Amino acid sequence: MNTVGFDIGGTQCRAALVTESGEILEQRSVPTPRTADALEDTIAALVDELRPHEPGAVGLAVAGFLDPQREIVRFAPHLPWRDTPVRARLQERLGLPVAMEHDANSAAWGEYRFGSAQGAGTWVFFTVGTGIGAALMIDGRIFRGAFGTAPEFGHLTVVPDGRRCACGKRGCLERYASGTALADTAQAHGMPPGLSGHAIMSVARGGDERARAVLADFAGWLGQGLSIVADVLDPELIVLGGGVAADADLFLAGAVEKMGRSIVGAGHRRLPVVGTAELGANAGMIGVSDLARTET
Ligand SMILES: [Zn+2]
Repeated sequence: MNTVGFDIGGTQCRAALVTESGEILEQRSVPTPRTADALEDTIAALVDELRPHEPGAVGLAVAGFLDPQREIVRFAPHLPWRDTPVRARLQERLGLPVAMEHDANSAAWGEYRFGSAQGAGTWVFFTVGTGIGAALMIDGRIFRGAFGTAPEFGHLTVVPDGRRCACGKRGCLERYASGTALADTAQAHGMPPGLSGHAIMSVARGGDERARAVLADFAGWLGQGLSIVADVLDPELIVLGGGVAADADLFLAGAVEKMGRSIVGAGHRRLPVVGTAELGANAGMIGVSDLARTET
């Protein structure tokens, strides 16, 4: 059975028609509308465009907080839904079963089923871009915690009393080891303000000393965060996805080295394998389309 997977982000609403083997047959992308009605109209229109492939269910990967039953979007900072029973509303409107999942969990499920984490038992997924999203899977199940918000690895404290985070805390991992955090670190190293993460990566690739120092700091903080995760969970695999993962060759070895030094029992235990995602920006759509097939 073919299914439709949506990745509903703050700027783009993407949809893909996906086969049982995780192959995308057709996809669409439109700017995310600003009102709930317009967003639901857009989802319905995109499903209609894909109906010739006879999809049997629809999955929504949502960048926001869902209730534990994944029926309601409680809050999503960049989407118009607020305490909205999205699943029931769309099921009725589309006439198809609908499944909903957090975007990082969706991408992790995609990597587990069809990508870099096939066969992994205890493993962790980091999606590093504007911020840091995270997912934890144990024995083939997505771990959500008691109230549906686990795991928030992006908000582990890696620098006590460090940079302010939008979450209200200070020194969170995502303020040091995300794409946007690179600009702050670059400025601290005397580079011009407002550089994009991508620009800093390119300059570092060209051999610029300051940019290389920025990435060394980035790798150190990321490794610190990974060591905390490894101490708590002892995972066999950590997968890095998101926009920053494309440049992993510039910082991943440094992060792994830092993790190996910072972990409890350093030098006397097995470390997790740390690798990069395989499905790229399509992981969320592929993952949630598969969840729609298995859960509805
Ligand atoms: Zn935070």
